[in-house]
Amino acid sequence: MSVAAVIVDVPTMQTNRPFEYEIPEALNDVVVPGVRVEVGFGRGKRKIQGFVMEVKDSSDFSGKLKPIIRVIDVKPVLSKEMIDLSYWLADRTYSFQISCLQTMLPNVMRAKYKQFIEAAPGFEDDSQVQALLQNHLFVELTNDTTDEKIKEIAQLKRQNKINIEYVVENQANSLTRQAITTDLNVNEISEKKSQLRSNAKAQLKLYDFLIVHHDELPIESSEIEKKFNITRPTLKTAEKNNILKFIEITKRRTPVGIHPEQTNAPVLTDEQSQAVSTINDSIDNHQDKTFLIEGVTGSGKTEVYLQTISRAIAQDETALMLVPEISLTPQMVNRVIGRFGNQVAVLHSGLSSGERYDEWTRIEDGVAKVVVGARSAVFAPLKNIGVIIIDEEHEGSYKQDDNPRYHARDVATWRAKFHKCPLVLGSATPSLESRARAEKGVYQMINMTKRINDHPLPHVQIVDMRNSENSAVKGDFSPLLQDNLWRVLKRKEQAIVLLNRRGYSSFIMCRECGFVLKCPNCDVSLTYHKNLGRMKCHYCGHEEPVPHVCPNCKSKKIGFYGTGTENIEKQLNEQFPDARVLRMDVDTTRKKGAHAAIIEKFGNHEADILLGTQMIAKGLDFPDVTLVGVVNADTTLSISDYRASERTFQLLTQVSGRAGRADKEGHVIIQTYNPDHYAIKDAAKQDYETFFKQEMYLRHQSGYTPYYFTTLISVSHQDEGQALKQSYWLKKQLQSVLSDNSVLLGPSPTMISRKQNKYFYQIIVKYKQEPNLHQKLLEILSDTQAETKKGFTIAIDNEPQHID
Ligand code: ADP
Ligand code: ZN
Ligand code: ZN
Repeated sequence: MSVAAVIVDVPTMQTNRPFEYEIPEALNDVVVPGVRVEVGFGRGKRKIQGFVMEVKDSSDFSGKLKPIIRVIDVKPVLSKEMIDLSYWLADRTYSFQISCLQTMLPNVMRAKYKQFIEAAPGFEDDSQVQALLQNHLFVELTNDTTDEKIKEIAQLKRQNKINIEYVVENQANSLTRQAITTDLNVNEISEKKSQLRSNAKAQLKLYDFLIVHHDELPIESSEIEKKFNITRPTLKTAEKNNILKFIEITKRRTPVGIHPEQTNAPVLTDEQSQAVSTINDSIDNHQDKTFLIEGVTGSGKTEVYLQTISRAIAQDETALMLVPEISLTPQMVNRVIGRFGNQVAVLHSGLSSGERYDEWTRIEDGVAKVVVGARSAVFAPLKNIGVIIIDEEHEGSYKQDDNPRYHARDVATWRAKFHKCPLVLGSATPSLESRARAEKGVYQMINMTKRINDHPLPHVQIVDMRNSENSAVKGDFSPLLQDNLWRVLKRKEQAIVLLNRRGYSSFIMCRECGFVLKCPNCDVSLTYHKNLGRMKCHYCGHEEPVPHVCPNCKSKKIGFYGTGTENIEKQLNEQFPDARVLRMDVDTTRKKGAHAAIIEKFGNHEADILLGTQMIAKGLDFPDVTLVGVVNADTTLSISDYRASERTFQLLTQVSGRAGRADKEGHVIIQTYNPDHYAIKDAAKQDYETFFKQEMYLRHQSGYTPYYFTTLISVSHQDEGQALKQSYWLKKQLQSVLSDNSVLLGPSPTMISRKQNKYFYQIIVKYKQEPNLHQKLLEILSDTQAETKKGFTIAIDNEPQHID
């Protein structure tokens, strides 16, 4: 008897281990690790889904095993690698293994869907396939499909004679489309056309269409109607006259609507070729080394990535490239597709679940050899990976905010080890932890210090907004920034204007001296809590009243400060009536494809000024941009996070890097109330190394990453008293295992303490070495499932990216 070890879809601590089930004889070859099955669970008749982790010859269980009710997949949806990875991931992120397994699959496989089987291209006439399909385009796989039939289907799938389509239930009927085609050849259509009356305009247009697009038939009717403005009655008339006919075709989802031009590799600079050959050595020798490319903006890092990907492909291996957010980096995606064409699969949030599934299948089938995508693409089902790249590795978006709280960098490290391939991290402003690892020799450092073609780094000027001449009497633009905007407009160049919105809601600052209120214990900014009307520390819970006089300079000009992008847009329109301004923020980018549209417009020079929030800071490469203006550098400094300085430095450096990338010199103007802050001064000099040293010193002083590990534990309950009580219980539990070298902060209430109608409290553990902490946290998780802890939820975040 064969036995399957199954992780069931019941996310509780008690069920967070494999359960054994008997495999029915008929399904012996079909139930293999990585397929999903339906099983009975518990005493009732409850049927649930589960993942087969392992198949064994016998069971250690003495009782009678329940049989597997039905197999859901005829082919494994998870590889051995992914199954192994799920064990590690669940442990590392304190999540249920079932959540980890589900995270690895495309959404459509998690929703309610139907499965259809169609012939694989080229096997339409295969006798076995025909026997299965019986003249239909599709057959559906249902609960009633017999085990024998499933076995047959599994076999056909193994031979690649059929494809399986997952379709979300309510979209199932969209699988086939109506299309038109014709039995006539071009000459015959021309002949018929000459017989038409000259006032039959619509028919004439349709005949011309059929002649021009004859090779492309069949074409979907809806496409003809929409794109070519040929109406349905026109088509119907032609059908009646035997010119064309309507047929059903399979829906073909084309993944991305971008068709960039093919580009060839340029001749590399010395720094680039040095970097490429170092990394390629590791690819050739199958070393799982991690490289950190610290390269100034415009030094040509992307070209280095592309050439290492080339190397991997040349060796018949695959490549994975992660970018922070696809919609913000269309230029990057175009460059990858431009180089590798159809071999590229792009995974981004703008895809419909069907499109995403199609891309996933292309990767799984080995058709797509290069994957570009955001965080979750790190689970792309690539086999035989030759190189993994993480661009802008410092970005916080690589960490998932929800369960499982994984960092893509950690998963990538795991996969690089598995595939014995190099991992390349690239950034102009590496995260402190990565740069520190390079310092220790854990990562190998690669420096790129020059811009391509020796373009100078932009010239940066800091404007002191405390100075009354500059301060915003008339608006938010200092005379210097105004003058420079004029100059850019006169020369018909372009400018980017950044309004820094991070930390906005809680921003209290002195406009006389730039003072920001900090916690006396934790060295992070205090946050304004509206409901309390008080300032609070999110780390230790310290609180104090909102100051009305600046504690530093006694000025009364302390308070909230902030303006919206719309207001800035209005000011620009008033001061520069002839300038064409494009605004990019959450409001203007809600629609799918809106980002790309704005970026394309700006790229075509259909606007002079691009005004935006953080989204415009990265990745844009426009030769005509000669000026970058930062309206307010300070807001990021005030976020209640020990990474506030790091985030500020990164943002300013990245956005400055948008200026002067081609032949024209770039100019950057940063307006700030803290002109002497090292994060701002070092960013102005684009001097990462100096910043790194200073920031490391301060982190050491105050005991933060990378000198200490941090774990954030948050507890919540609908009842505030309960939430608080449980957080003290939690604190006591932690204290019992922690040594004196560790620091325990909190419990403190979090900012949006009433979200989901629950009260949230958090505890932060800072530690260097706590061998018992991990086990204790797992125990705590388990304990929270007890009856007495009903309604109480806990979330554990290893190395949180932000604390709010
Ligand atoms: P980074 O990613 O380091 O900011 P990019 O890779 O975007 O820099 O390169 C900056 C610009 O230089 C791009 O327009 C790119 O096409 C161009 N470029 C890169 N490498 C070369 C090269 N070897 N020769 C000529 N142009 C190059
Ligand atoms: Zn002051
Ligand atoms: Zn504090």
